[in-house]
Amino acid sequence: MAKVVVLGAGISGHTAVSYLSRHLKKGHEVVMVSPNSNYQWVPSNIWVGVGLMTPDQVKFKLAPVYKKMGVDYKQALAVSIHPEGNSQNEKGFVKIKYVSEEDNGKEEIVTYDYLVNATGPKLNFEATEGLGPKKFTQSVCTYDHAEHAWGKLQEAFDKLEKGERQTFLIGTGHAMATCQGAAFEYILNIAFELKKRKLIHLADLWWITNEYEIGDFGMGGAYVKRNGYITPTKIFAESILREYGVRWIKRAGVYKVEEGKVFYENLEGEKLTKEFDFAMLIPGFAGAGLKAFDKEDNDISSKVFAANGMTKVDADYSPKKYEDWKAEDWPLIYQSPVYENIYAPGIAFAPPHGISKPMESPNGTKIFPTPPRTGMPSGVIGKIVAQNIIHRIKTGKDEHPHQASMTKMGAACIVSAGYGLFKGQAAVMTVNPIVQDWEKYPEWGRNINDTVGVVGTAGHWMKLFMHYMFLYKAKAKPFWWLIPE
Ligand SMILES: Cc1cc2nc3c(=O)[nH]c(=O)nc-3n(C[C@H](O)[C@H](O)[C@H](O)COP(=O)(O)OP(=O)(O)OC[C@H]3O[C@@H](n4cnc5c(N)ncnc54)[C@H](O)[C@@H]3O)c2cc1C
Repeated sequence: MAKVVVLGAGISGHTAVSYLSRHLKKGHEVVMVSPNSNYQWVPSNIWVGVGLMTPDQVKFKLAPVYKKMGVDYKQALAVSIHPEGNSQNEKGFVKIKYVSEEDNGKEEIVTYDYLVNATGPKLNFEATEGLGPKKFTQSVCTYDHAEHAWGKLQEAFDKLEKGERQTFLIGTGHAMATCQGAAFEYILNIAFELKKRKLIHLADLWWITNEYEIGDFGMGGAYVKRNGYITPTKIFAESILREYGVRWIKRAGVYKVEEGKVFYENLEGEKLTKEFDFAMLIPGFAGAGLKAFDKEDNDISSKVFAANGMTKVDADYSPKKYEDWKAEDWPLIYQSPVYENIYAPGIAFAPPHGISKPMESPNGTKIFPTPPRTGMPSGVIGKIVAQNIIHRIKTGKDEHPHQASMTKMGAACIVSAGYGLFKGQAAVMTVNPIVQDWEKYPEWGRNINDTVGVVGTAGHWMKLFMHYMFLYKAKAKPFWWLIPE
């Protein structure tokens, strides 16, 4: 009989818990600890941010779904991990703090046989002075942020209606932020809405990014097959921005925001500013901020977590020069190297190094995107972590037959660029593998036959279809497991 505790009901943790509860029935226990009472389909927050969907369309209550699955759901925040137990508990445990209305503030100890830390990213607004919805910029990273952004966007639209020019600044709000794809999608949707409202002539649209070249997307760019030609994503992304009337500032590390003004340093080391009326800037990501303690209550956080708070797993973290990066550096099973019953799928795991080439200004400021871990790999990794735990429990063998390296796995990214059954558009990009493998694919870094970029209405239909399909799957409706991650 085993007890598996999953932290974080996001794409990765919710996928893991769904498979665990499906395969671990009699006598086994599956527990989910997550603070938000709702599941949210994060990719559709972009549409909330332009008023095309409401938060209710992208979220649903977790409690009834977990009741149906037989999962013990605790609406709480995990605070610390104690993998060796302590004087009162022989087993490893997690300290949690409830945030639910009934039990708010109550603390509890949850013991486990296996722990899955899928706490995703901490949206680290504090790392950039003045950043975030409580200060001077907007975010679309959660449905409530996106709803707030839509309110502010409408104010800018109202001013345009009155003939006032408005500057929109969208992109990354930290020198090492990732998730460029989401911000890219948002600016295209704003441009689409402005055209639809016949206000585009009064709008100045700016893309600000820490990428060395536009189209890097934190994966060192890619070469994609497009209309039979092989095109770098630089050309692909730049041509889309041009088509939508967007200008750009690249190689920019935003370090401060004041009302209506962003301060950034570029790779030449110049300190510059850009004024705006509306800004949506993605914050830096860090780990969820959990602590770890040994049996004697000594802080062992630096053993379990990397400096950014993300969990160390079976990757090669030895410092290496960019030229020496290898596909084998990347993890296969997302298992902690110090505690064999702890796993960390999704954004919670610490990548061994970047995917984009590290860049530094003459002042020593690192300006480049950290590696993204998008929805598809987060879901796939959540699934294989669950499958391996199920295998270990059922066979009693310490084996991991399921692996998912980001250097072997492909991913599809659909960037919507306008909404509507006939007028909607999306850029669809597939890459395989996500992290380049220059030894296996010396010419392009990836398998060029699976690395494709197209723009069109069909992409929009796919994005819309995925919204409904993945919400269906997450609600654990009949035969949900037949839908791929
Ligand atoms: C606006 C936006 C659009 C995106 N669009 C796309 C897209 O089109 N395609 C795509 O592939 N990817 C997209 N992504 C990326 C995708 O959303 C992420 O890859 C994915 O959500 C990561 O999954 P995760 O489970 O690791 O983290 P998350 O989904 O962030 O889940 C983490 C969970 O952990 C919980 N948690 C946090 N701290 C604690 C704690 N201390 N204790 C317990 N629980 C905790 C959180 O509440 C959350 O439920 C987008 C991201 C954003 C922000």
